[in-house]
Amino acid sequence: MRLKDRVAIVTGAGRGIGRATALRFAEEGAKVVVVDVDPDEAQTVVDEIEAKGGQGFAIKVDVSSRPSVNAMVEATLDHFGGRIDVLINNAGIVRDAQLAKMTEQNFDLVLAINLKGVFNCAQAVVPTMIAQGSGVILSTSSLVAPYGNFGQTNYVASKAGVVGMTKVWARELGRKGIRANAVAPGFIETRMTAGIPDTVVEKMLERIAMGHFGKPEDIANCFIWLASDEARYVSGQVIGVDGGATL
Ligand code: NAP
Repeated sequence: MRLKDRVAIVTGAGRGIGRATALRFAEEGAKVVVVDVDPDEAQTVVDEIEAKGGQGFAIKVDVSSRPSVNAMVEATLDHFGGRIDVLINNAGIVRDAQLAKMTEQNFDLVLAINLKGVFNCAQAVVPTMIAQGSGVILSTSSLVAPYGNFGQTNYVASKAGVVGMTKVWARELGRKGIRANAVAPGFIETRMTAGIPDTVVEKMLERIAMGHFGKPEDIANCFIWLASDEARYVSGQVIGVDGGATL
């Protein structure tokens, strides 16, 4: 077990990549805080973890709300003995529209969850990690961050911002024993990609060297490696997990 007894918070863990990450972390021995806006989805994941003999704890959190995030940290410290070893910033949404049609509300909403939510969670856990002298902060960017994507002004801005913050945190926190990295998923089979029209899917598949979409577990496995001691000298990096879509 590569994460035995590590306390790991996974945001947006009620479904998709976050759910797969919470389940895989528990299989590797981590004590997992399953965070989601939907408490029923979070509890279902904890039930799955416990059914396999793992340890989990569900909590309703909106990552864009600082009081909600602070309550998440307090509950984690209470529940799992005062440690936070890993933060996985995974919660994210899309609200696509071309620039001329994008509403200010949808620009602000995507930035509030995908960018400020990552800042909120990292800032809330970092005093504990500094006091421990160790910790890992992992965040979810996207393959679109360095390239742009049609209809995603808000989303691309948020995911490029996550890369920038990750590099700042690697510089600021490295000497305190804390590593910060990002994962940039390609096209992964989740609700987020389920509604893409077939014609667009065909064009996407042409771009992917491996010829197929990824599974949530493909991202979870990268998070496990980055969270483990096997990646102890890896910080400030963005790891693409995209089947060769960005070649
Ligand atoms: P998903 O299936 O839509 O899951 C996202 C999860 O985040 C859901 O459980 C959702 O809860 C939760 N969530 C939404 N807003 C939240 C908030 N304010 N606070 C806490 N939790 C919140 O998406 P996914 O595909 O797994 O994506 C996970 C991450 O990977 C996102 O950051 C996404 O941008 C990134 N990503 C995905 C892909 C892809 O191809 N799927 C590619 C690149 C990057 P509800 O279900 O209750 O709404």
